[in-house]
Amino acid sequence: MKVVVIGGGIIGMLTALELVKAGIAVRVLDKSHPGTEASWAGGGIVSPLYPWRYPPAVSALAVMAQELYPALAAELTGYSGIDPELTVCGMLMLGADDARDAMVWSRKYGRRIHLLQGHALAAMGDGLAQFNDGIWLPDVANIRNPRLLQSLRRTLEIRGVAVDGGREVVSWERVGNRMRAVRLAGGETIEADQFVLAAGAWSAGLSSTLAGPMPVRPVKGQMLLFHAPDAGLRHILLHQGHYVIPRRDGHILCGSTLEETGFDKSITAEAAVDLHAVAAKLVPSLGAMPPVAHWAGLRPGSPNGIPFIGRHPEAHNLWVNTGHYRNGLVLAPASVQLLGDLMLGRKPVLDASPYAMLDMRAEDQASSSS
Ligand SMILES: Cc1cc2nc3c(=O)[nH]c(=O)nc-3n(C[C@H](O)[C@H](O)[C@H](O)COP(=O)(O)OP(=O)(O)OC[C@H]3O[C@@H](n4cnc5c(N)ncnc54)[C@H](O)[C@@H]3O)c2cc1C
Repeated sequence: MKVVVIGGGIIGMLTALELVKAGIAVRVLDKSHPGTEASWAGGGIVSPLYPWRYPPAVSALAVMAQELYPALAAELTGYSGIDPELTVCGMLMLGADDARDAMVWSRKYGRRIHLLQGHALAAMGDGLAQFNDGIWLPDVANIRNPRLLQSLRRTLEIRGVAVDGGREVVSWERVGNRMRAVRLAGGETIEADQFVLAAGAWSAGLSSTLAGPMPVRPVKGQMLLFHAPDAGLRHILLHQGHYVIPRRDGHILCGSTLEETGFDKSITAEAAVDLHAVAAKLVPSLGAMPPVAHWAGLRPGSPNGIPFIGRHPEAHNLWVNTGHYRNGLVLAPASVQLLGDLMLGRKPVLDASPYAMLDMRAEDQASSSS
C-alpha cells in the first residue's frame, strides 16, 4: 500500500511515522518548507491550557498523548540524534477561578493537581506573591517544538520516507468514490492507494473542492521570545490565557494572541506591547529586557477545538487528521495512533466517533436548523 500525506507539520509527519512503522510506504508533500508553519510557531506546552475547560474528546487525546511523549522523544532522539528536549517543568495557573472544576477533572483523568496559596505559591517564583492562588499541575512538560520537527523529519528520512517541500496540492483526481491522485501546482499528479489530509489551517480549502466546507479556519497566534538565563523561571506560568514557558537554554517564550484575521501571518506592534506586559507581570525581570524574536503562526481552528480524525465522507481512501486548534503539539501522538488504527483496521485505541467528520457536519446542520 502507498500513502500520500498532505501537510508536513507535526500532524502530517507524525502520521507518516505511524504508518511507516506499520510497514506502509509513505510520502509527505508540503507546499512550503515542512515543519515551518503552526507546529514550528507554537509554544510546545504538552497540555491544553486549563485542560478542564475542553470537551472530553480533547482530554481523552491529551491524556493519552502525554503518556506517549517520553517514549516518542526518546525514539526520535535515538534515530535522529536531535533531542527535542521534552522537559517536565510543571504548569502553574494563576488567578483561575475554576479550581473546583480542575479538581473534578483531575480525579476523572488521574492527573495530579495541587491548589497553592500564600508562601507555597510565592515560593514557586519571583513576583508570584502578587497572586492569591494558583492551580499547580506538576507533571506538565514542554517540548522544544522546532527541534521536535527537525528530529521527526530526520527520523522519517532515515526510515525511507520522502518529506518533500515545495509541493502544493491544489486538487484531486477522483474515480467514483475513490481518489486516484493529487494534482500539484504546476500540473504534476501523484498517485497513491490512500491519502491523508493534514494541511493544518489550510485543510478546509482542499476539502472544499470535494464536498461541503470543513469547519477548519486559521486563528493567528503571536509569540515573543526572550533570552533570559538569569530570570530564574522554572515552570510554565499561565495567567488569563497568556503564558511564559522556560526552555532549557535560557530562552523564555511568551504567548500568545488569538486573532481571527484569515491567512494573515503579520506581526503587530500592539501584540508586542501586550505580550511584553504579560511577560513583565509573570517574570518581572523581563520588563526591562527587549525580546529577541517575535513571530506569528496560524492554528487550525475547529469547533470546540476537537480535531477531525478519520475517513473523509466523500471518498473511501481519503483520511483527515486536522483541526487541532491550540493543542496540535500535545494531541499529535494520540491523534496519529487513532488515525493509524482506523486506516489499518486495528482496534481503535479510543472511541473515534467524536472526531468523525460526518458527525460534526450533522451536528452543525442540527444546530443551524434549530
Ligand atoms: C502561537 C501558537 C502557540 C501554540 N502553542 C501550542 C502549545 O503550546 N501546545 C500545543 O499543543 N499546541 C500549540 N499550538 C497549536 C499547534 O501549533 C497546532 O495545533 C499544530 O501545530 C497543528 O499542526 P498541523 O500539522 O495540523 O499544522 P501545521 O504545522 O500548520 O502544518 C500544516 C502543513 O500543511 C502544509 N500545507 C498546507 N496546505 C497545503 C497544500 N495545499 N499542499 C501541501 N501542503 C500544504 C503547510 O505548509 C504546513 O506545513 C500553538 C499554535 C500557535 C500558532
